[in-house]
Amino acid sequence: MGGWNVRLWGVRGSVPAPGSATRRHGGNTSCVTVRTAEGHWLVLDAGTGIRAFGEELLATTPPNDGRTPLELTLLLTHVHWDHVQGLPFFAPLYDPRLRLTFGVAAAVEPTVRASLQRQMCPPSFPVRLDALRSTIAFLPVADAGTRVHDATVRPIEAHHPDGAVGWRLDDVDGTRLLAFLPDNEIDEAHGRHGLRTRWVEMLRGVRLLLHDATYLPADAPRHRGWGHSAWDEAVRLAVEARVERLVLFHHHPDRSDAAVDRIVDEARALAASLGSPLRILAAAEGLVLHV
Ligand SMILES: [Zn+2]
Ligand SMILES: [Zn+2]
Repeated sequence: MGGWNVRLWGVRGSVPAPGSATRRHGGNTSCVTVRTAEGHWLVLDAGTGIRAFGEELLATTPPNDGRTPLELTLLLTHVHWDHVQGLPFFAPLYDPRLRLTFGVAAAVEPTVRASLQRQMCPPSFPVRLDALRSTIAFLPVADAGTRVHDATVRPIEAHHPDGAVGWRLDDVDGTRLLAFLPDNEIDEAHGRHGLRTRWVEMLRGVRLLLHDATYLPADAPRHRGWGHSAWDEAVRLAVEARVERLVLFHHHPDRSDAAVDRIVDEARALAASLGSPLRILAAAEGLVLHV
């Protein structure tokens, strides 16, 4: 028995990109939910994708079903807009049953908390984060990780402007089920010395890795220092770390469905040419994966 369900609600990077060209992979920004084996909810990021998750959560948990409270842990990678902009529109925030814990890397917890409070506050938004009917708490998570129900969650330092982390989620047996690095520039020449080695260690053997694949290889050199990776860099890192499955995530807002399909074909060919059994797919809204 066991296993976790992972669902993708927003896979786009930088800014929502709705429209006919992005219909299949989706236009909402970063949000992924995890339902653990024991049925607990972990949410990764609060981009615009979190709005639809909130609606489904309330629809499947009607007010009088006796199942209170609604408990969620929201693990934030950072507070760039595309990772938090859905939060004010996450309907459970206004439901007194919700007990929401923000899991934030310990080193940046005060900064992140202040930034969220500034975002949800007049004149940017009419309702204050600290005046909601739901119960909100902040959980600073140290590098060694912390236990959240039947998961252990660990921040992974990313290379990204203003600082960001990824998250690794292990089950009770210590199996590395999932890692999430939506915004991470792998490039070694410009990355902080030693980070790549640490990523390989942290990601070694992970069942499912969702990683930044914003750029095409040809575009990456012109965007060094912007904090994102080309898809081939994500493939090489996943191969080196012997990840089982790689989900190319944080699609560029200009990237059409057809262009994403071509990337997946090329990424699979690259993994095969490296002699790796790595499985690769593209992030898409509504995609459900089991780990
Ligand atoms: Zn982003
Ligand atoms: Zn970012």
